[in-house]
Amino acid sequence: MPELRQNRFTKEWVIMATERAKRPEEMRVKREARPLSHYVETCPFCPGNEHLAPPEILRFSKPDGHWAVRVVPNKFAALTREGEPEWKIERSRRTIRGVGIHDVIVETPDHALTIALLPPERVQTILECYRQRFRAVSQDPRVAHITIFKNHGVAAGTSLEHPHSQMIATPVISSQVRQRLYEALRHFDEFGECMFCEMIEEELAENKRVVLASEYFVAIEPFASATPFATGIYPRRHMASFGDVSDAELSDLARILRTMLAMLYVGLDNPDFNYVIRTAPAEVAGAKYYHWYLSIIPRLTRVAGFELGSGMFINTVLPEQATAFLRGIDVEPLASAAD
Ligand SMILES: [Zn+2]
Ligand SMILES: [Zn+2]
Repeated sequence: MPELRQNRFTKEWVIMATERAKRPEEMRVKREARPLSHYVETCPFCPGNEHLAPPEILRFSKPDGHWAVRVVPNKFAALTREGEPEWKIERSRRTIRGVGIHDVIVETPDHALTIALLPPERVQTILECYRQRFRAVSQDPRVAHITIFKNHGVAAGTSLEHPHSQMIATPVISSQVRQRLYEALRHFDEFGECMFCEMIEEELAENKRVVLASEYFVAIEPFASATPFATGIYPRRHMASFGDVSDAELSDLARILRTMLAMLYVGLDNPDFNYVIRTAPAEVAGAKYYHWYLSIIPRLTRVAGFELGSGMFINTVLPEQATAFLRGIDVEPLASAAD
């Protein structure tokens, strides 16, 4: 019997298709191995080609003086950095000038690497860049919300293969983000607690969907996961905004994120994936009702007509099975590559 599960944070229902459930290992994407070069002459993010990208905003260097992580404006930015986001309402039409900030975080000088293969201290540097830019951009009065995300692979929407992530700061808060804030606030008003803190406690006690638990973070396959192997990494300490993450937490997050991505890399054969930091907007940074987290979404299935038309997803891998599968993966042989 298939089971419908409700995502408490969005109120969306998901069909867990137990009848046609797949074994987790069947989700591995078969494709020809395509070894990447460590350097590509035309790549704007490879060392020596820095002039091909707009002027640098931030850089972290390695002990040898070469850069480790760079932040640059997106050359093909979705929003423009100059000007004021003026609202215009003309009868039924509502528009805002497209003002915002669109950064690219170049994660490593090596064109062929990926976070799963980087040493944890280098992953920490990437996260430090996120935090520094997030804090700086949060001060900009034109910015309403910040999304930090990564597209890995063609199925995840990447157009440049050099490892990078992006940050887009928008002059509005999207209705999807607002909806989640409302649901969390409603829960807080009714029960007097953060629904994320409650969920984390419940999952740790039940221990069926917890893949990894570290000192400061917990990686969970959500109970009503819409897609196979979607994973949330939640801070144990209540924090609404990613900007409030401490140094010790950031270093722990680097380790758990890298291990989680290594598990997917080994278990599912380097799948395409997105990850996104879902954080409270600056205006509700200290909120008791919202809890930031990092969501990893492997892109193993396609969104088709039913999903587009109904907003409901059919998941063919139970989160409990995905958890058991991931827990059994040994990531030790995946040695860190030096770059
Ligand atoms: Zn490159
Ligand atoms: Zn919380």
